[in-house]
Amino acid sequence: MTDNNNQDNKTLIDSGLEILHYPAPVLKKKSEPVDKFDDELAKFIQDLYSAMRAHDGVGLAAPQVGVLKKIAVVEYDNKSYVLINPKIIEKRGIQEGEEGCLSFPGIYANVTRPEWVKIETQDEHGDTHTIEGEGYTARAFLHEMDHLEGKLFIDYLSNLKRNAIRKKAAKHTGGHF
Ligand SMILES: [Zn+2]
Repeated sequence: MTDNNNQDNKTLIDSGLEILHYPAPVLKKKSEPVDKFDDELAKFIQDLYSAMRAHDGVGLAAPQVGVLKKIAVVEYDNKSYVLINPKIIEKRGIQEGEEGCLSFPGIYANVTRPEWVKIETQDEHGDTHTIEGEGYTARAFLHEMDHLEGKLFIDYLSNLKRNAIRKKAAKHTGGHF
């Protein structure tokens, strides 16, 4: 996910991971659960963080770099979170706010989400933790978890708005996909 406050178009990638832009078909696919907690996974998570930071993102999910595994990272308000095989166990309230996505450069839209969530997740060692997020952090968790199910933020919008974004995205990518 991205934050509209950071608008400079950096293309720096120091992780070797390429962030795929909509309409890359992999973005619409469901990810597989992680069952191997090894050095390769730990390295991949570090690479996800690097790619996210290089693009001023607040979250990045594995499918966005072409890996269909239930892995995502979130970094907001000086806190970092690793989400592996995450599940929502409780949610409360409602918030409406602007959302962007590293797979939709320059595109932002209002999306309604729960105000607060509690999530059960594993870390890179396979240990299970419960984490809570409120406000923008909750929004980032839910946005990244949607990526693991092949769901995109534009799926919450009306057909009219979604079609306008599709056209804009097609122009951005120059029809590469
Ligand atoms: Zn996204």
